Amino acid sequence: MRHAIVWQVLSPVKPPPVYSLATQLAEGRTDMSDVKKQLAQWIDDDRDTIVEFLCGFVRAKSPNPPGDTTLAAAHVTRFLEAHGLPFRTIAPQATMPNIVGSFDTGKPGHHLVLNGHMDVFPADAQAEGWTHDPWGGAIANGKIYGRGVADMKAGTSASIFTFRYLHRVREYLKGKLTLTAVSDEETFGPWGTRYLMEHHPEVHGDCCLNGEPSSPLTIRFGEKGPFWLKFTLRTKGAHGAYTHLSPSATKQAARLIVDLEELTMLRPSVPIDIADALAGAAAAIDEAQGPGAKDIVQRVTLNIGVIHGGVKVNMVPGTCWFEADIRVPPGLGKEEILAGIREIVARYPEATFEEINYSPPSVCDPNHEMMGILRANAKALGRPDPTPIVSLGGTDARLWRQRGIPALVHGPFPRGMAQADEHVEIEEFLHVVRMHVLSSFDYLSR
Ligand SMILES: [Zn+2]
Repeated sequence: MRHAIVWQVLSPVKPPPVYSLATQLAEGRTDMSDVKKQLAQWIDDDRDTIVEFLCGFVRAKSPNPPGDTTLAAAHVTRFLEAHGLPFRTIAPQATMPNIVGSFDTGKPGHHLVLNGHMDVFPADAQAEGWTHDPWGGAIANGKIYGRGVADMKAGTSASIFTFRYLHRVREYLKGKLTLTAVSDEETFGPWGTRYLMEHHPEVHGDCCLNGEPSSPLTIRFGEKGPFWLKFTLRTKGAHGAYTHLSPSATKQAARLIVDLEELTMLRPSVPIDIADALAGAAAAIDEAQGPGAKDIVQRVTLNIGVIHGGVKVNMVPGTCWFEADIRVPPGLGKEEILAGIREIVARYPEATFEEINYSPPSVCDPNHEMMGILRANAKALGRPDPTPIVSLGGTDARLWRQRGIPALVHGPFPRGMAQADEHVEIEEFLHVVRMHVLSSFDYLSR
């Protein structure tokens, strides 16, 4: 049935030819659509290999923290070596290697970069209540289970198989293809993609494709930016019965937190093409990221992730600190948020604050050529037309967009992400592989 769908869509007239690519080449009968059909055929033929690769990838434990990806990286390099694919390892931290593979067709054209991370969230099978071993890569009911299988070893596998298959048909391509399988993503760390972008400009390319969980119903062309801050309140403190002698640091913190909610009223201004794209995407945003996501995608959000204050029940606390995770939508920047924070903090002479981390929100052209290619291939594969959206969470794709390079995210549903029984459906995973392989081929063969 899978074969039937592919053939029907890609070649409505001709029956499936029985040929090897080499024979076609020798006889000069090959055109681009034939190569594309061959790519789809290889994915079908290699189904078991592709699935087993992902299961093995899950079993190669790589929780972050601590972020040691040596097992996962070895799984990837074994595969690349076995298929004679060109790559090198760049490891500014020995336990956090990055794998960079690249080939140049020798013909002028685009430079496409495939990006995916190998580190995953930690898992606590008992506390979280897993019904499968989070590091077992088990298959049950047409699904593959395991920590990081959705975020994002399925997507990184799609990148790896794209690199493999496109290398095999490289004589039909123009330009250049680069694979970056990286570490240190889950904690926004400095040793993964950030390191490559800063020290190895050869991975910039002119378009990036990433398989982070997005759902096949959407293609992400932008994301909100995290802005993390620590607020501290200091007062004299006093005996718990002598509340007349000192303000309470914990009570001041509670009031400050309520006031910080005012930041969520800031309104972004985005270019008309982005506004247009988002206006039509409300339903898809909710479907991919949960009901209500559409209401906050273009708004500042405030989460108080940690709070510490006081020493004893019968003391007026002299210190309290808390950490805020503010998510900034495209169309707003750090300066606007800081101006708002300064105005609010000025009401609390006992308060100080410091920045912990900031990464600007990022967007690229929602009508970029690669967007059109991905959407056309989804339809050709018999799926709904995916909607271009902006995501709530952050990915390494931002690092390309922040340099003005378009970066699109298209991967599986985030099922069980950072929860028990994270999984991907096998058919959905294979669909993501097809999408990446066929779209990368289109982008590099035009
Ligand atoms: Zn991820």
